[in-house]
Amino acid sequence: MEISKELADAINDQINFELYSAYIYLSMAAWLEENNLPGMAHWMEVQFDEEYSHAIRFYRHVIERGGRVIFKAIDAPQTEWESALDVFETAYEHEKVVTARIYKIGEIADSEGDKGAQGMLQWFYNEQVEEEVNTSTIRDNLKRAGDSKQILFMLDRELGARPAAPAPPAESMT
Ligand code: MG
Repeated sequence: MEISKELADAINDQINFELYSAYIYLSMAAWLEENNLPGMAHWMEVQFDEEYSHAIRFYRHVIERGGRVIFKAIDAPQTEWESALDVFETAYEHEKVVTARIYKIGEIADSEGDKGAQGMLQWFYNEQVEEEVNTSTIRDNLKRAGDSKQILFMLDRELGARPAAPAPPAESMT
């Protein structure tokens, strides 16, 4: 079954948004490097790779389903934050927006009874639960750290140990 135009358009927008997300996280990584938090910067670089792989997953789905991928300009990301806490608060709020967007795509797939797209989206529903947990947990830890430079240093070391993101799939996971 070929993908519908409406669903392909929505996924095209999401490819753009995943790349925009990647751009935001790399911008956060640069800010964290600038502010002597190399471990958190590393965590954000891994996040950048993950968002890139999400874009590829959506891209593969549209291609394999006989749709057209059309790229648009990617918005400029935010470049300034008040603190590491502000960075991770922003990341958490951003992931909630991503989840809502993916649910909207799911509503289209559901209304069309497009099981191929539903299967592909199921992976993303699970992934978004993880993204929200990860960013909100770090946000909570930073809140608890308060002004303690020692705890901030420890958190930075811990986040610096995040393993590299798996490579984007060579073929669709649907
Ligand atoms: Mg993503």
